[in-house]
Amino acid sequence: MHGDELTYMTKAYETNWMSTVGENINETERMICELTGSRYAVALSSGTASLHLGMKILGERLYGQARPGHGTLEGRRVFCTDTTFDATVNPVAYEGGEAVFIDTERDTWNMDPAALKKAFELYPEVRLVVLAHLYGTPGKIDELRAICDEHGALILEDAAESLGASYKGTQTGRFGDVSVLSFNGNKIITGSSGGMFLTDSEAEADKVRKWSTQSREDAPWYQHEELGYNYRMSNVIAGVVRGQLPYLQEHIAQKKAIYERYREGFAGLPVSMNPFDAENSVPNYWLSCLLIDEEAMCRSVRSDREYLFVPEHGKSCPDEILEVIRSLNAEGRPVWKPMHMQPIYINHPFVTADGTGRARTNAYIDEGRCPDVGADLFRRGLCLPSDNKMTPEQQDRIIEAVRACFD
Ligand SMILES: *Cc1c(COP(=O)(O)O)cnc(C)c1O
Repeated sequence: MHGDELTYMTKAYETNWMSTVGENINETERMICELTGSRYAVALSSGTASLHLGMKILGERLYGQARPGHGTLEGRRVFCTDTTFDATVNPVAYEGGEAVFIDTERDTWNMDPAALKKAFELYPEVRLVVLAHLYGTPGKIDELRAICDEHGALILEDAAESLGASYKGTQTGRFGDVSVLSFNGNKIITGSSGGMFLTDSEAEADKVRKWSTQSREDAPWYQHEELGYNYRMSNVIAGVVRGQLPYLQEHIAQKKAIYERYREGFAGLPVSMNPFDAENSVPNYWLSCLLIDEEAMCRSVRSDREYLFVPEHGKSCPDEILEVIRSLNAEGRPVWKPMHMQPIYINHPFVTADGTGRARTNAYIDEGRCPDVGADLFRRGLCLPSDNKMTPEQQDRIIEAVRACFD
């Protein structure tokens, strides 16, 4: 927090604009349009709510309006990023669709264009693709967009983690047919909670704004002709976002310095940092991650809830490193467990570049025979403490502790 957040929250309080209408909301939407280049922005209560209404608006565009009690994606398959937070894909289920997970590529840890191409061979009827930019790193957007265009498919872009990141000079949040942002407490800009729906269509922006305020029609009484939601951002929350936004570049610079310090600190270790395409993209460095070389992995197994590993000289594994980080009273986490490995989605289709994707048991993965990229990143990768308030001294302690794991 910088102080400006409190000023704008207090302004909402003192003028009694404490609901889902007010200057903070208008100003936050204006600032986001300016920052991303989007024509319209609708402030909502969370990134998840934004994804839900984004899914619904594209579902309607593709398949028409659904009756109450029926999802707009009912009986429809939707291609989804596999290595992501589950909020990216759950809205497919909210709207009655079936998520088909697309494997990850190694260059940016995002959706693999080769796997997406394969998926259209297997499921040529699909018209909607949900794309996330993992950890603030833009994916191979041109390739993915070209494949979608070839098949007449729309893109819902989840830029929740990548505000401020750009690809070929364009901000993420500009690449979807509609796109969404998140201002959750852990994001690079926060409102404590909150999200944003982005579109170039005035009609769709109006529709999402209406849906988010319980679908009230323009009548003297509460008149409802469509299903409504209570998804609008509060003017108090918008005050926090409004106060934070001018500090985006400062936050990115801090995150970048953390990433670079880790990279230098780990020189000589059998590890690499989360990769990005330096030629075409500028990440926002939201989370710094580590991938352990296969040869340097000690023996380790994971069940659905627990893990075990066998310590070994010169080798380590994510769970050993995370234990050490926790012992320093800091917080790390394994790389997002891919959606195709999640029990809730275990029966859903999963497509790898060679077309052989399917649900895998933990044992298969533990043996180091990872058949897909997402499972492999989950097995060997971890997210490092990356808070922008972390001091260089605190970070050095993490680096030292990680180095000691490989002694
Ligand atoms: C945080 C996040 C979301 C959800 O945003 P909320 O504001 O927490 O609902 C969606 N997708 C990704 C990739 C996220 O990291």
